Amino acid sequence: NITEQGGGRIASLSAESHKVLNRRSLIDKKMLTALDHNSLQVVYQPQLDIVTGKVLVYEALVRWEDEEIGHIQPDELIPIAEENGLIHAIGAYVLEEAARLAVKLTANKPDIRISVNSSVREFGEASQMKEKLMGILEKTKCPADKLELEITEKFAFQAEQEHAIIQQMKAFEETGIRFILDDFGTGYASFRYMQQLPISKVKIDKVFINSLLTMPKTRQLVEGMILFGKSMGLYVIAEGVETEEQFEALKEMGVDAVQGYYIGAPVKGNEIS
Ligand code: C2E
Ligand code: MG
Ligand code: MG
Ligand code: MG
Repeated sequence: NITEQGGGRIASLSAESHKVLNRRSLIDKKMLTALDHNSLQVVYQPQLDIVTGKVLVYEALVRWEDEEIGHIQPDELIPIAEENGLIHAIGAYVLEEAARLAVKLTANKPDIRISVNSSVREFGEASQMKEKLMGILEKTKCPADKLELEITEKFAFQAEQEHAIIQQMKAFEETGIRFILDDFGTGYASFRYMQQLPISKVKIDKVFINSLLTMPKTRQLVEGMILFGKSMGLYVIAEGVETEEQFEALKEMGVDAVQGYYIGAPVKGNEIS
């Protein structure tokens, strides 16, 4: 019991903190079993390509519903998985689900791709990321160019691993897989990394789309981000688009694709036709 271990100071933890710690340790404890029992779900959110007016990409997002813990969002799940090391297994699970869906969907719609979020922990020197990916592609018979990998700007901040990560990404690129820089604008060193990383798309973070129409500065910023992305030859996506007004404004600014509740919420793979 944690209240007894630490004496008076820890004993004064509020009831709320106890609840948080409890939930955290439950998530940690039940994660492996959940993975073993295929209890994690993957849902897919459409991304609308402006020029063709078609959904060309679905983003895979992990979900976990546990009867005891309740609904566990990725923002809660992923950091714990990074700590306990299960991030590799989760990443492989999501990739494999995504690859299977990509094979299924591209039978009728050859242009469709699935994008998968990847954690910085899945890359780096000792990781088997490329081997893992190649194994999954082989097993599912999914061509590499049907998948995209989303990485976040935070990703690039593992300074000591920087070189290894860039090398790994370049090796990946040779397989035909594309990289998307996710949550664009929320990191720090994006300009420096953007000239080194082999990315073909950027996704403007939803915090900017949130205040797009209410803060003039945000609007200018987003306009600048779109121009910048395009001048780098990148395909620019806006995420978190919730209203028609946001959609129209972004279209006018020349964004290449939009994603968000206005276009569609994440759905189960078997609900996509
Ligand atoms: P992200 O990649 O930036 O994904 C977008 C998040 O915004 C998703 O939350 C999505 O459900 C949510 N969203 C979509 N449209 C809207 C909208 O119109 N408005 C608002 N307010 N939100 C919207 P979710 O699914 O909770 O995922 C959170 C983050 O967790 C993701 O952010 C991604 O970074 C990470 N994540 C999700 N699945 C995985 C995974 O399989 N592996 C790893 N490593 N990370 C994952
Ligand atoms: Mg993403
Ligand atoms: Mg994103
Ligand atoms: Mg985001």
